Amino acid sequence: MGDNTPTRRQFALGLSATVLLPSPALARKPQPKARALKLYNPNTKERFDRVFHDGGRLLAAAQDELNWFLRDNHEQIQTSMDPAVFDLMWRLADWYRRRGKGRVTLNVHSAYRTKKTNEALRREGAAHNSRHLSGQAVDLTVQGYGRVFLARAALAARRGGMGLYAGGRWVHLDTGPNRYWFRRR
Ligand SMILES: [Zn+2]
Repeated sequence: MGDNTPTRRQFALGLSATVLLPSPALARKPQPKARALKLYNPNTKERFDRVFHDGGRLLAAAQDELNWFLRDNHEQIQTSMDPAVFDLMWRLADWYRRRGKGRVTLNVHSAYRTKKTNEALRREGAAHNSRHLSGQAVDLTVQGYGRVFLARAALAARRGGMGLYAGGRWVHLDTGPNRYWFRRR
């Protein structure tokens, strides 16, 4: 045996040291962040308050519940909402949370609309080809906060369309092309 040959004992220690080293991939993997929503519908008085996304994927049971919660409540008809709408609402609420406002409640005044309901609402300013018809839009206010704060939050959170209406209380958010508008009713 030469001088540089490790003894059996040194070899065993070296081996166990290698095995005990934590894998960097395991040690540094960030925990996925669950996304929750707290919603209230002033028309139906219904509430939604739960995690809808586990950070990796949308939760099927919560998705079903949200599709019903966001239904056309004039006709009691639901659709498959664009899941990006859930994330839009979550980002809006998160904007308040990051400013120390806690978990705010979003009031959902209108979401999915059937053609019939949308035509009836056109007298109130609803667009003919409204994204509400395809389950891609929500009209919101935030409990306890005014329109100016809401508009700032919506501008920061939006990835899609945002509409504000003179005299209207809520902000319209949709998952269409990136744009915003201020309009008289
Ligand atoms: Zn709208």
